[in-house]
Amino acid sequence: MQTVTDAFHAAAGKSSFIRKMFEKGIELKQQYGEDAVCDFSLGNPDVPPPEAARAVLPQLADDAVRPLGLGYCPNAGIPACRAAIAGYLAKQQGLPLEGKDVIITVGAASALVCFFRSTLDAGDEIIVPSPYFVEYGNYCGHFGGVLKPVPTHEDFTLDISAIAAAITPKTRAILVNSPNNPTGTIYKRAELEELAALVEKVNAERGDQARPLFILSDEPYRAFAYDGAEVPAMLPMSKYVLVLGSFSKTLSMAGERIGYIAVNPELSKADNGALLTTLTLVNRTLGYVNAPVIGQKLAAAICNETVDLDIYKRRHDLMAKVLTDAGIEFTMPRGAFYFFPKAPGGDDAKFVDALLEEKILAVPGSGFGRAGYIRLSCAVEEKIIARSAEGFKRAAEKCR
Ligand code: PLP
Repeated sequence: MQTVTDAFHAAAGKSSFIRKMFEKGIELKQQYGEDAVCDFSLGNPDVPPPEAARAVLPQLADDAVRPLGLGYCPNAGIPACRAAIAGYLAKQQGLPLEGKDVIITVGAASALVCFFRSTLDAGDEIIVPSPYFVEYGNYCGHFGGVLKPVPTHEDFTLDISAIAAAITPKTRAILVNSPNNPTGTIYKRAELEELAALVEKVNAERGDQARPLFILSDEPYRAFAYDGAEVPAMLPMSKYVLVLGSFSKTLSMAGERIGYIAVNPELSKADNGALLTTLTLVNRTLGYVNAPVIGQKLAAAICNETVDLDIYKRRHDLMAKVLTDAGIEFTMPRGAFYFFPKAPGGDDAKFVDALLEEKILAVPGSGFGRAGYIRLSCAVEEKIIARSAEGFKRAAEKCR
């Protein structure tokens, strides 16, 4: 029988693709200099946080040096910060939410970990449309959860029939991420409504209110939507939807580790707040105790702002041009800051190696559950994208 540790190591192996490229990048930069390397491997947001942060931070310094200014706070977050983030989410999701419906977590990552710790039994399954963010396997693997990737259509839209066919009595959640890492896809309203209707139907058939099937909507890239694309709000679609997210990308504060999990008030009414209570307890006992205090206050103060999205839009358009000029096929992403083009010749590892020879770093699609593609992150300056153009052409030519 596979142990929790075996399952965890299997998942961890996959995420090491990104790590490997990260380490390769450091090596190349040391060898040839920072400017010589075009590093599209990591999604670490490099655009500065909004200017509004500058005005807030001195006030936070005053707060911090008071007694308990940097002390422990309630497990679910500072009440005023929960209320502010609930207000932000209520507007975004079009549903009345209060502070009690929202738990502040250590990034979207720990929001997912808290959910898995709160709900999974060993062997429970999490369905994820693939390609997908590889760390998901580690997050649920800690608790014996098994990630069950279900391929999307060729254009990365959801294959709802395939998802329906993959559901078993052990399925605990369907985890969707839109705008998506690694493809940049934004799922359309009709796709998400169909998914929500499927989950409602499964729960009605199960009749087991103690172990319902959930939809986890992982939304750290919500603000990154181009050319007027709609990012539909999922929370009102079903009481079984949980919305998770963070300010890592939208406010460029990934190092402060501030995320959230919002529970539909209808679900809390139905389960007497049991899920919220468990999530709150687990948020502490996993060892975080509470999300960083200065980060909570900063995020709460500026949560209605975003980084300068025009910068990402310009990079997005430039990367599309670089790939088109190199004759590389791709589905134009409508959101996030990634591209997931096809590897010319079909072998992603070979194409990544050919790019490396050009000092261009990319991650093979195999690491995201879809061989034959590569992932490029546009968390880099425009001048680097422009500089990579000739290298992409030569590498693509070599692999055809
Ligand atoms: N979900 C997705 C799809 C991501 O790409 C990331 C980070 O890159 C996360 C979750 C975790 O983000 P954080 O914990 O910084 O909020």
